[in-house]
Amino acid sequence: MPFEILTIPCLADNYAFLAHDADSGKTLCVDVPETAPVLQALEQTGWTLSHVLLTHHHADHVQGLRDLLAAHPATVIGAAADAHRLPPLDIAVGEGDTIEIGHQAGHVIDVSGHTVGHIAVHFPASHAVFTADSLMALGCGRLFEGTADQMWDSLQKLMHLPPDTIVYSGHEYTSANAKFALSVDPDNSALISRSKAIDAAREQGRPTVPSTLAEELATNPFLRAEDPTIRSRLAMQDETDAAVFAEIRKRKDKF
Ligand code: ZN
Ligand code: FE
Repeated sequence: MPFEILTIPCLADNYAFLAHDADSGKTLCVDVPETAPVLQALEQTGWTLSHVLLTHHHADHVQGLRDLLAAHPATVIGAAADAHRLPPLDIAVGEGDTIEIGHQAGHVIDVSGHTVGHIAVHFPASHAVFTADSLMALGCGRLFEGTADQMWDSLQKLMHLPPDTIVYSGHEYTSANAKFALSVDPDNSALISRSKAIDAAREQGRPTVPSTLAEELATNPFLRAEDPTIRSRLAMQDETDAAVFAEIRKRKDKF
């Protein structure tokens, strides 16, 4: 059986996730922006926390951990590369490692760019990838530590996952991302309809996370550096994909 996955809104626009493996009874929490909503979700589901995965060191992804562990001891997993600035880790991992949550095996992917040491974890049997602030719904994380080339390499690894993979990203930034996406790719009909669906979801207070990789490939401008229409709009027909990505990222920073 695949994971049962719950999306938990935290703070103003963050997400934590609980992934439950019913066969073993193990439950993984991905990022802890805030303690109370995660505690409440554990109580409502009756799931017993066994593991916590920290995707990167930013406070809005780790700051609820201490109080969560005080209530529910669990094995904490994070990037070895970031062990010096993450809360104490029980399991330190890197690119190519496999983590096991009960019967669920997750492959660790280095997705540096937003930070250096940011990891994503792909659980193929559940068609799920936890991407936090690397690949986001219609966007990607701002480049605080890494270079555009690094982020482009990271995004390409995610782009090669199966298209039916469900992308669990870390923030509800999708409406703002949609406005920017339309500014660089205004005639993309899939983007226009997705943008309408996003507006409708937000009006009803529904999350726009998770999304599918197929949707992102069709509409997320940060994954579409090879697209001829976007390239001609940016007058970058002869540039590399990495250069086109870097230009799109730069424009988003100023949007
Ligand atoms: Zn972050
Ligand atoms: Fe964040």
